[in-house]
Amino acid sequence: MEKVIIIGTGPAGLTAALYAARAGLAPLVVEGMQPGGQLTTTTEVENYPGFPEGIDGTALMLLFRRQAERFGARFESSPVKACRFREPPLQLELDSGERLETQTVIVATGASAIYLGLPSEGRLIGHGVSACATCDGAFYRGVPVAVVGGGDTAMEEALFLTRFASRVTVIHRRDRFRASRIMAERVLQHPAIDVRWDSVVTDVMDPEKGEVTGVKLRHVKTGAEDLLPVTGLFVAIGHRPNTEPFQGQLDMDSRGYVRSRNTRTDVAGVFVAGDVQDAVYRQAVTAAGTGCMAAIEATRYLETAG
Ligand code: NDP
Repeated sequence: MEKVIIIGTGPAGLTAALYAARAGLAPLVVEGMQPGGQLTTTTEVENYPGFPEGIDGTALMLLFRRQAERFGARFESSPVKACRFREPPLQLELDSGERLETQTVIVATGASAIYLGLPSEGRLIGHGVSACATCDGAFYRGVPVAVVGGGDTAMEEALFLTRFASRVTVIHRRDRFRASRIMAERVLQHPAIDVRWDSVVTDVMDPEKGEVTGVKLRHVKTGAEDLLPVTGLFVAIGHRPNTEPFQGQLDMDSRGYVRSRNTRTDVAGVFVAGDVQDAVYRQAVTAAGTGCMAAIEATRYLETAG
């Protein structure tokens, strides 16, 4: 029987691991499909306190991990397939088939990118359609690409892609960005970036060829349609919480975010941290903060549970 199992290795999971390890609980950290979480798909992290010059996202997560390991956190790599929280002991089943029992769980499984949902887009994911410029941007050297979305992620993706692409077009469904002013200004002032306002992607060409040759756009106000020739399409329209294995076991809102109070879920001994419970702030530093809170709550719970 484990004392603490932490699910997820983003800022929330690894901070929870650091605090639980320093409390002498030798936590077991279960790593899923994306070790290090979403920060490993970003480039430069400029807003994590303590790094005035910025730091690469993957490098930052490796530092988090080393710090947790130094105090005795253990790691196991296999996504969680299912769980049974509604009667003690708390149980987890991993993709590997392994079954784990534990006194407490900290769910820090984060969130994943949302795609547009077009059939042609689905067929071309990994063949010109991507949700991660950091991962795939370098494949688009000297060719035009498009980014869909108007939030900070879309701005970051567009700016990053200017390193490689000949031209970057941001496609946004409204006439103003949702992104923070500083990011939006950088995009608007960049000589290699164009913006298509009030426009939506209606189709991605060309699934038959197995590669992206362009996107069909519709202007939402005039209804005018045209074809934008691009070789890559980066979708940056938001995220959904990774709560699939916990359906029916934890109280969630209509979008699937886990409901909690000071990181405590509706199940005794199960705590939650990071983007999986946060549709509002979604920052590395807030994820780390809630990871710390969840570990402190789990430690207190174990003390009172004997
Ligand atoms: P957001 O939810 O902030 O933005 C999503 C964008 O996608 C919006 O502009 C939205 O349009 C658009 N969109 C949503 N659905 C569709 C659709 N079906 N078709 C077309 N467009 C669509 O998500 P982000 O991932 O950009 O950011 C999430 C959070 O992370 C935010 O709080 C953000 O500030 C933060 N963040 C911060 C960064 C930083 O500070 N360095 C970097 C990246 C993210 P509309 O505006 O019309 O709703």
